[in-house]
Amino acid sequence: MKYVFGPVPSRRLGRSLGISPIPPKTCNYSCIYCQLGRTSKLTNDRKMFFPVQDIVQEVKLALEKEHIIDFITIVGDGEPTLYLGLGELIKEIKKFTNIPVAVITNGALLYDQEVRKELLLSDVVLPTLDAVEERMFRIINRPHKDLRLNLIIEGMKKFREEFSNQIWMEVMLVKDKNDSRETILAIRKTLDELRVDKTFINVPIRPPAESWVEIPTNEVLAEAQRNLNAESIAHFENLLIESVDRDASPENQILSITKRHPLREDQIMTLFPNLNEEEIKKMLDGMSKKRLIKIEKYMNHRFWTAKEEKKI
Ligand code: SF4
Repeated sequence: MKYVFGPVPSRRLGRSLGISPIPPKTCNYSCIYCQLGRTSKLTNDRKMFFPVQDIVQEVKLALEKEHIIDFITIVGDGEPTLYLGLGELIKEIKKFTNIPVAVITNGALLYDQEVRKELLLSDVVLPTLDAVEERMFRIINRPHKDLRLNLIIEGMKKFREEFSNQIWMEVMLVKDKNDSRETILAIRKTLDELRVDKTFINVPIRPPAESWVEIPTNEVLAEAQRNLNAESIAHFENLLIESVDRDASPENQILSITKRHPLREDQIMTLFPNLNEEEIKKMLDGMSKKRLIKIEKYMNHRFWTAKEEKKI
């Protein structure tokens, strides 16, 4: 499948069938914590990257095979609202299934009336807000030059007025960047104005775009969770392994996950009951020599990631 993946176990969305309607690393932000690395295609122009019907066909095929799905989630290796066919895609999906549709977005394009209109068709929108002050926004999210935080927040407020379904906000906290009490309380004020239905705190649990990015301390996170009245999805132990095609070879199963995000080595060890640790290590080394995957060390863990040129 080119556009559809999973179902993956999601900390917020249960068993989630993912759809990526944009080319890899196409985004209007280049967040310092992005697990996909630095944005290679920084753009704020919406495009019809792929035909809607091609994506719809894949969703139909996936639903024929998988019967237990909690959400169909439009996400992407970048920003899915840059896909010009987003509204049509949601409308088409709604024609053949009652499974709720979620959209995970950085929320930047909510200032665009057309994007807001397209998102009205979804059941849950999960935007991100890591800063409420322009300077901090630029440090953390490194947005496209045309983007202004005040317009984005205004867009989020308008969307709240127009959208009666669920808005679940994510706040990604980075140590010594946006984790001070003052910043958290300012974010909380804006979240209250936005009347979000839920807030989730997250932290960079996988190797980030910038190696100097760190996770806030547990004490800071606990206080932030209280001050934001948030649920936490920020824990290493919660790193879930998505389902893979069990008919595929172990190499292809690893590639299929690491194309989307780095995978912790100790988790890979649990993926293949028929292989012992020694055999799995040998396989990883072999894939690394073939330049299919590379190793990164982060927060005392070893992560494997697909090499850039192999990403779909
Ligand atoms: S974290 Fe999301 S919004 Fe930020 S650069 Fe990566 S894909 Fe774009």
